[in-house]
Amino acid sequence: MQLVRFPRAPLAHLPTPFEFMPRLTRHLGGPRLYIKRDDCTGLATGGNKTRKLEYLIGDALAKGADTLITAGAVQSNHTRQTAAAAAKLGLGCEHVLVRSQPIDDPEYERNGNVLLNRLLGAELHLVAAGSDAGHAMAERAEDVRRRGGRPYIIPVGGSNVLGALGYLAAAREIEIQADAVDVPLDYVVTATASGSSQSGLVVGFAAASSRTRVLGINVYQDDGVVAAHVRAIAEEAAELIGLKGGLAADAIAVNGEFRGSGYGRPSPEMVEAVELAARLEGIVLDPVYTGKAFAGLLGLVRGGYFKATDNIAFLHTGGVPELFVYRASFA
Ligand SMILES: *Cc1c(COP(=O)(O)O)cnc(C)c1O
Repeated sequence: MQLVRFPRAPLAHLPTPFEFMPRLTRHLGGPRLYIKRDDCTGLATGGNKTRKLEYLIGDALAKGADTLITAGAVQSNHTRQTAAAAAKLGLGCEHVLVRSQPIDDPEYERNGNVLLNRLLGAELHLVAAGSDAGHAMAERAEDVRRRGGRPYIIPVGGSNVLGALGYLAAAREIEIQADAVDVPLDYVVTATASGSSQSGLVVGFAAASSRTRVLGINVYQDDGVVAAHVRAIAEEAAELIGLKGGLAADAIAVNGEFRGSGYGRPSPEMVEAVELAARLEGIVLDPVYTGKAFAGLLGLVRGGYFKATDNIAFLHTGGVPELFVYRASFA
């Protein structure tokens, strides 16, 4: 697997830690549970978008761009990591933030990632729920061009084939770390939404002929929509790197049972999962992605989905700043 031919902007603190969770493993009495700390990637509190941005911004710089434009929900972690990367590299940065408002709290538009985005110097354009973010980004790009700038549009969640390359590389990193402690990993469990983290991992493990399976806990839209998106990006990535034999038919596993009442909406299972990880392992999860994904992991372990001899790594994809706008959920 040759990734060196793709331009990459070094932004992440790598490798991120890979650690055993002894107290949680004992508490659940099932498979051995590990954690991959991609909340420690380093860009303004870290998260999974940083690995994708290394390749996306690598491409932007190769094309001579001077302004990054991206979009997300108001509390998007992706936009915050993009703003930090732009600041670090001296690029302009504009965000289209869609007001989907999953919780009714005035803090939602002021605190957490919004506070950090403003601090990092990004120009924010808030638009109504249901707005076409792609169209709004194209308009911002046109405006940048009119002012003589050179815009580069990064898709929502950094999810295209270039973004996936970051997680292809992460699969390799996980393999090396698990090998070093003699742990053959059976599963990597991750939150999945815009999809390219899961796509990249799937293709990365397939390229290494690894036995490790990737289980995506869908926190976003209908399973069919998310799975189709994960598959499309994975197939494109497989082709880009010339994966022999392509992807297995069952390579994309997406489980939406732990989504609760919708994207960004708190659930009792999420609250329990966030509290358990904090109290047993000192690990802080987020309410939108990792809290629900971890609730999924707990639910599957308790429901007997895994074998007691399995080794499972939970991918901590970040998101901690959102916790502060969900204070009411943890009262
Ligand atoms: C964006 C995000 C995800 C989802 O990753 P995708 O690659 O978009 O599927 C998971 N966790 C956190 C904290 C995120 O910000």
